[in-house]
Amino acid sequence: MARIAVCPGSFDPITFGHLDIIQRGAKVFDEVYVTVLNNSSKNSLFTVDERVSLIKQVTMHIPNVKVDSFQGLLADYAESVNASAIIRGLRAVSDFEYEMQITSMNRLLNEKVETFFIMTNNQYSFLSSSIVKEVAKYGGNISELVPEKVREALLGKFTNNKQV
Ligand code: ADP
Repeated sequence: MARIAVCPGSFDPITFGHLDIIQRGAKVFDEVYVTVLNNSSKNSLFTVDERVSLIKQVTMHIPNVKVDSFQGLLADYAESVNASAIIRGLRAVSDFEYEMQITSMNRLLNEKVETFFIMTNNQYSFLSSSIVKEVAKYGGNISELVPEKVREALLGKFTNNKQV
């Protein structure tokens, strides 16, 4: 039986930190669904379709990755694609409390799905979509933080800045 995992998130937008987790997850699982969850209370910069499109463009080279979006409970989504695992990335201790809460809830909702954590690559431990947006907004160089397609998309959102 194929080992299917879901890698959920806001991906607003996808960064090299996310991509690293996706690539490493894709080595362990037969199929990885990278899924934009569309029910976050966060205000997003990119629409769900834009986020899905960017993820597709930057994961094209990973054959066992599928990109999707979903509104609702992750536990239900995982069931709908026959996933037995959820992959999450961990950066710092500050991620831990939130992840523990979400994991416990997901286990309560669907005990057949196990959550796996992948520790961030040291070079990305400080990297988040929020910090990338902040730097991009004020024209800072983000070329080492996000793939080129994402940098261009951010440039499009913050047209007044020169050096993004
Ligand atoms: P969410 O809003 O669900 O936290 P994000 O898009 O911010 O979604 O992140 C999706 C997943 O990617 C989360 O598990 C998060 O911890 C992980 N992640 C984000 N940035 C990094 C990074 N730099 N290194 C490792 N994991 C990361």
